[in-house]
Amino acid sequence: MLRQGPAGALGIVVLGATGSIGASTLDVLARHPQRYRVEALTAHDSAESLLALCRRHGARRAVLSGMAEEATLRARFAEAGCELLFGSEALAQVAAAAEADAVMAAIVGAAGLQATLAAARAGKRVLLANKEALVMAGPLFMRAVREARAELLPIDSEHNAVFQCLPRGGTGVTLEGVRRIQLTASGGPFRQTPVERLAHVTPDEACAHPNWVMGRKISVDSATMMNKGLEVIEAHWLFGVPAERIGVVIHPQSVVHSLVEYADGSVIAQLSHPDMRIPIAHALGFPQRIESGARPLDLCALGLLSFEQPDGARFPCLALAYAAQRAGGTAPAVLNAANEVAVAAFLAGRLRFTAIAPVIEESLARVAARAARSLEDVLEADLQARRVAGALVAQRSEQAA
Ligand code: NAD
Ligand code: MG
Repeated sequence: MLRQGPAGALGIVVLGATGSIGASTLDVLARHPQRYRVEALTAHDSAESLLALCRRHGARRAVLSGMAEEATLRARFAEAGCELLFGSEALAQVAAAAEADAVMAAIVGAAGLQATLAAARAGKRVLLANKEALVMAGPLFMRAVREARAELLPIDSEHNAVFQCLPRGGTGVTLEGVRRIQLTASGGPFRQTPVERLAHVTPDEACAHPNWVMGRKISVDSATMMNKGLEVIEAHWLFGVPAERIGVVIHPQSVVHSLVEYADGSVIAQLSHPDMRIPIAHALGFPQRIESGARPLDLCALGLLSFEQPDGARFPCLALAYAAQRAGGTAPAVLNAANEVAVAAFLAGRLRFTAIAPVIEESLARVAARAARSLEDVLEADLQARRVAGALVAQRSEQAA
């Protein structure tokens, strides 16, 4: 349990503060100034947005991970009372610093792995939004959490819901009497789009999520349902449940965030408006409940909640994720890296939406899965998969030209 120290408020580090999860986190923190202080905020290269956030939230330190040292910028941050660091190594430095009590891991993609791992190794309370880190390096990450006695709390709404629905025992959740976990998925913006139109959908259409406003990468992942595939792997590592006992159900309203089914047939679910401030407030305050700013759920106004099976032909990425999880070792890291490359190419207008899954499938076939014993094994597989997927994307754009 995260206790408030005698010196007062808890120091919070937000990795990826300029993103969508970063904004929701800062919104919750600002509601509890007695309880939390902003220790450090990071961004990749959006210096002006980061400076504005540091001013508004009184951050003590800041990191621009994608920029080289710049004296004038450093001076401008210093004027705002904030020490500015440059380069990606500084991410791990602020994540593991003694002044950090909890670290919100909200960098998108593989780029967040090392800093998130550093927070775990330093025994912090890790609020995990950056699911890609766990997908890539599940066993290593979970070992670091155990060895350093870090506290891992899921921010992904489904996993936060499962965490809330699982039985408690000892120091955390247990699987006593649990038969199955069901992750819900909205089905994204193309749930009902005629399949033959999918080859022509644009990045903006893919990012227009019906229920959530999120960064562009996860929005595309939601449209392909790779997001749910990554979440199955994430749930496997977080809760120690085999992937065969983790199901996916489409629920277009995004009100039931996930369900846990018990041996006696009981099913426990967590419901709320789709508002990321709710899981963020839950994980920050745990085991206490704190105000999130979200409006109350009015079931009568909602009227109807519906559920359906995911369509495997429309969403081939889901099966690819289950296959990578079964293959084990470095296969999930390959899946993740190939997906990042394919999604970036789609967002840049260099790859069709319907080519995302084939690029990932082919990358998985070409990069043999190996044991993931160390961080180096994982990073090597990530790099190799990026090369292979990059070449596959280039081939396809030549063919299209
Ligand atoms: P986003 O694109 O809005 O923000 C990403 C943040 O990461 C930004 O602050 C950016 O500066 C930083 N960043 C980007 N590239 C970086 C790099 N190479 N090195 C260091 N920092 C970098 O993304 P988001 O939607 O906030 O998602 C963040 C993470 O949370 C993702 O892993 C996503 O899957 C997960 N998540 C998001 C939501 C959501 O509602 N947005 C929900 C569940 C999980
Ligand atoms: Mg989610």
